[in-house]
Order: sequence, then structure tokens, then C-alpha cells
Amino acid sequence: MSLTAPTTPLSCFELDDRLLSVDEARRTLLTLIQAPLGHERIALGEAHGRRLAEALTAPIDVPQNTNAAMDGIALAWRPGQTRWALVGRALAGVPFAGALAPGECVRIATGAPLPDGADTVIMREQLTLDDDYATVNAPERVVARQNVRQAGEDIARGQVALAAGERLDAARMGFVASLGLASVTVYRRPRVAVFSTGSEVTAPGEALPAAGIYDANRFTLSGLLHERGAEVVDLGILPDCPATIRQGLEGAAAKADLILTSGGVSVGQADYTREALTALGKLAFWRVAMRPGKPLACGWLGEARTPFVGLPGNPVAVMVAFLQFVVPLLARLEGQPLAPPPRLVAIADEALASRAGRCDFIRGVYTSDARGQLRVRSTGAQGSGILASMVDANCLIGLPEACTSVQPGETVTIQPLRREA
Ligand code: AMP
Ligand code: MG
Repeated sequence: MSLTAPTTPLSCFELDDRLLSVDEARRTLLTLIQAPLGHERIALGEAHGRRLAEALTAPIDVPQNTNAAMDGIALAWRPGQTRWALVGRALAGVPFAGALAPGECVRIATGAPLPDGADTVIMREQLTLDDDYATVNAPERVVARQNVRQAGEDIARGQVALAAGERLDAARMGFVASLGLASVTVYRRPRVAVFSTGSEVTAPGEALPAAGIYDANRFTLSGLLHERGAEVVDLGILPDCPATIRQGLEGAAAKADLILTSGGVSVGQADYTREALTALGKLAFWRVAMRPGKPLACGWLGEARTPFVGLPGNPVAVMVAFLQFVVPLLARLEGQPLAPPPRLVAIADEALASRAGRCDFIRGVYTSDARGQLRVRSTGAQGSGILASMVDANCLIGLPEACTSVQPGETVTIQPLRREA
């Protein structure tokens, strides 16, 4: 018998002052989520982008009938026979009623059920047709059972069509519809409250004060959240004013499943966000060994213990930290196990610098060369405030802690970014 107790991961609040690895931070953040969100049953038409909370079993064979994959004639193939008696037709939705006798055929349209007795379809282009007979022009090219789709070849009745946890993308939407299912049980959409913080942060549309900066983060965060099926509660900009911050965060904690802020979590600055957060909940301030995105706050706010993540202020750092840390949190809210970001391997086309002991996420552009090999280069200037580097990027190049530099021709790991265009 083993005497080793099962290891429970440390909670978010037991790691203060340590420099955390990205993986460690990602794993530990998940302990903020006490239970997944509830389920709801919704019409399939409303379900695009939602995550299934149930496995779906096929109630029917798809296709329902063995049917024709081509327009032409259906028959029971006999090698050598070229002339076949035409006894009727089968259209999609209007099957041929009888059964075929040897030597008989029917005209058939793509998708129409194969009549009893038929096993093969010969396409229209290979036939000479008159009112009563079909002649096969090149019988030596016909293979028995060709151009026939078998009932259940897409999915057979009783098989699991989709597993619980799968996200309903366009292909899955169509697949569910093909089973005839009009409603699905999905996880409730995570409601995520988003704040920007900082007295210099100005809403677009307003005049920019001399020391101001327009609020980019609420918009990148809203976009990232929408892309993942979350419902965004946009709570605006919190100025560096303790009373306002407290009020804003208290309200958010009561109505959100997750609260995200950006800015105001760096150590050592005159920061009211930290103060307000500590007063309102249980907070930890972390240093994560990564660039960009080093300072991170996390914890619970309010009596509901609403999970909270305080992202850095710099716009690129916000996006990088979201992709590493918030995406797994959203997945956990929807009952999913921890999965690190999807990764590919590419050859670096240029030298890349990194620092030992820190994971660098360099904004990159990857392409496939003539031989199908992925190659990657950086987008250029990498300051964590340079949002243009994110605009140009289609991936993050992740240089692990142990890596100090990459030479051209060496392989690196990339995390592809979702880009619509
Ligand atoms: P902080 O961590 O609050 O010191 O912010 C770090 C940097 O990010 C500062 O230069 C801020 O002005 C900038 N910043 C913070 N919030 C935003 C925002 N919402 N949009 C654009 N820049 C921001
Ligand atoms: Mg600030």
C-alpha cells in the first residue's frame, strides 16, 4: 500500500513572493474555480460557439438510406451486361416504390434512396438513354457497388456523435442538425466583467488629455472573450480612486462569473487597485517568469468568491496573459480539464533573443515554405506596449525558461493565434 497522500495543488494564495513558471501559474489559477457553470437547454440555432454539456448520441443513421452519390441509373450490377431495361425513377424525396428484378434499372438522382435489389449506380455521363433502355457505354469501367453511399456511413444510430465538452463550431452545428436534433444542452455562457484601470486611461471618442492614453485593453479583452463564447459585462474605466474602484469591483463580483481588470497590479507603484482588491476579497499578487506579462493578480472578490484576474496594463502583455491564463479559466468554467495552448513546431528564420529563467512570448508570423515546412520570424519591435506587433502576428513564439537564444534554422514552438481574416 502506498503511503503517499494524493497531492492537492497549492491554492492561489500560497505562492506569494515566488517567481512562478507559466505552467505553474496556469495550473494554480484553476483552483480559483470552485465549480463549473450550470447548464441550459437551448435551440440549436442559438448554440453556435457554445460548449456541449452532454454527449450527443445519434438517434438515426446518417444518411438514413443507402442512396446514390451520382445522377444516373441504379441497378444490380452484372458484369458484361450493357443494355438494361428502364422501369422507373427514384428522386431525392420520392423513392422508387418497387424492387428491381435482374436486368432492370431505374433512373436515379443524387441522394435518392437505392431501390431494393440495386447495389450500384452508373453516372449519367457513361450512359446512352432512351425511353425504355439504358446502355452502359464502357461496362469494363464499372465496379460493383460504385457511387453508393451506405446508410449510416456518416454516423450510425446509437453511436456517440459528439462528446460532452465539444464546442459547437460550424461543422458541429451542421452535424447536430443532420441528426435531427433541434435543441442541445450547453454550459451557461461565462459572464465576464471587464474593467480598465488608470487615471490616464481614456475612452475612445473622448478628448485625449496631455498625459492620457486611449483604452485599448477593454477592447482586446472583449474581443478575446467574445471569440470564446463568453458574455462580456463592460464596466468601463476605473480611475485611480479608491472609493470608485471599490464600488465598481463590488458590483461586478455580485453579477459576474469572472472579473478581469488590466493595469494597476505592478508591485511598488502608487496603486489603489491593489488596495481596493485586498480590501474586497482574498488576493495574491504574483510574479510570473514570463515576458511580457510578469505582474499578475488573482483571487476571489466579494462574498460570492468570484474569481478575479488582474492582468498587466501594457496592451500586449494583456493579450499574452489572457491567452496563457484566462483561456484555461474559461474552459474550466465550462467543465473542461486543463489543456495548454495548442502548439506547433517551426523553424526560426532569424535569430531570437531570450533571457534565461523567463519564458518569452515573441509575436511572430509563421508561414509554410514550398516543402510544407513551417517557418517563423518575429514581427519586429517587441515592446509590451506595441500593440501593432500583435496586429501583425499570427502566432506567439514561446521561448522556454531555459532558452537564452535561438539561431536561424533552429526549431521553436509556436502558439497559433486565432485570426479571422
Ligand atoms: P500599469 O500596470 O497600470 O502601470 O500600466 C502599465 C502600462 O500600461 C502603462 O503605461 C499604462 O498607461 C498602460 N495601460 C494601462 N491600462 C491600459 C489600457 N486600458 N489601454 C492601454 N494602455 C493601458
Ligand atoms: Mg495604472
